[in-house]
Amino acid sequence: MQAKIYFTKDHRIDPSLIDADALYVLKKLQDAGFIAYLVGGSVRDLLIQKIPKDFDISTSARPEQIKAIFQKQCILIGRRFPLAHVRRFHHKFGHKIIEVSTFRSGKNDSDLIIQDNEWGSPEEDVLRRDFTINGLFYDSTTHSIIDYVGGWNDIRSHTLRVIGEPETRFKQDPVRLLRLFKFQARYNFHIDPKTKEAIEFCREEIIKSSPARVLEELFRMLESGASAPFFRLLAENNFLFLLFPELMETLHTPQGKRIFHYLACADQIYKHKGKNVLDRAVLCSCLIFPLVEKELHDEFLNKKHYPHIGEITLLTSAIIKRVFVHSFSHFPRKISSLMVSIIVAQYRITPLVGKRHYREKLLKHKDFYLALQFLKIRALVDEHYVDIYTSLRNQYRQASHPERKRHPPPPVRRPNHHSQQELHAPQI
Ligand code: ATP
Ligand code: MG
Repeated sequence: MQAKIYFTKDHRIDPSLIDADALYVLKKLQDAGFIAYLVGGSVRDLLIQKIPKDFDISTSARPEQIKAIFQKQCILIGRRFPLAHVRRFHHKFGHKIIEVSTFRSGKNDSDLIIQDNEWGSPEEDVLRRDFTINGLFYDSTTHSIIDYVGGWNDIRSHTLRVIGEPETRFKQDPVRLLRLFKFQARYNFHIDPKTKEAIEFCREEIIKSSPARVLEELFRMLESGASAPFFRLLAENNFLFLLFPELMETLHTPQGKRIFHYLACADQIYKHKGKNVLDRAVLCSCLIFPLVEKELHDEFLNKKHYPHIGEITLLTSAIIKRVFVHSFSHFPRKISSLMVSIIVAQYRITPLVGKRHYREKLLKHKDFYLALQFLKIRALVDEHYVDIYTSLRNQYRQASHPERKRHPPPPVRRPNHHSQQELHAPQI
């Protein structure tokens, strides 16, 4: 197929947004006589005018040739399909890694990836990628976009379209279904009708795919700043029911709907502070805290019984097991135990009845900053907690704690009026 080429006058990409290290790697490969392009998420984000997260490179150079060019700066990862990590050192940022992969071919028309083991041409390389918006190359020598798959028009028309036959491609790798919702949630693009139709036939495949990959994709979405729309899409498209049946049931209750408020407030923090600001345990707590509240209410408060901390701990652990470990048996234990400590701390800070009964000791606990991060989210959801959050944050800052320097808790500003929108997504 003939590629369409688009030049600066068409795409107007600001070259200063392209990472200097990625440009260095591209140039070295090109100077050695190879084809080398930016590919995937970075080209898509440059065209959507978002700052790309990472800059992946595809090249005609084979792994051992990449190694020969970059020598000690380069390590090869993986056996069957080695790809190169080129490390660049910065005094300020430490090591940065640019991922360089060799153009590969892959059969697109079979359910299983059987012939996924051959190097290929640039065109073959994009044909095995997931969506047209992710299948564009950027050639830094001519500042042009090379489009074999129609991604240019799809970005223009805000369309998510599978490359190739949607049902086959989803069955080949069902994680692509989650990736579809990830891009829909992030960019608010619409789904092409054929791609949409295929979701119906492939939905159940998601439970056949590698739980490790599915969980990693879910974690990444929690950290994306678009987690609320993403989980809403999972629920609307009947995926939440397959992945977390327990959560789906809760969503039908008024408390369950609060999950989206918690996620939306975590998203607000991401939008203001950038990536990796909230721990995965804090983000997962957003998904189950409303469930803990509901069950405490149903099992204890409704019966005029006030649970003690031990009972709250047991109930929280049981919910974590039912929601996360039941769906993902390899769910990291470290995250489960941090979630228990985050959630139980909430009931020490804001007890169900009587006065707060936390002690100095709680503030000095090495994981307290996580409970404080979660309290910040609660304060954004519910203005009622702003005062206690502010006071605890200040106390925590004063306490000389080593964690404080590594993870300074972010400030929260009180919403200045009481509109619904402000309550759920106030300025921070
Ligand atoms: P993000 O901005 O979240 O990193 P991304 O599109 O760059 O999004 P990556 O997981 O970094 O996602 O993948 C890089 C590229 O690899 C994608 O743009 C796509 O071209 C290709 N890709 C990733 N996952 C798949 C998949 N499951 N099937 C086919 N191609 C994929
Ligand atoms: Mg990426």
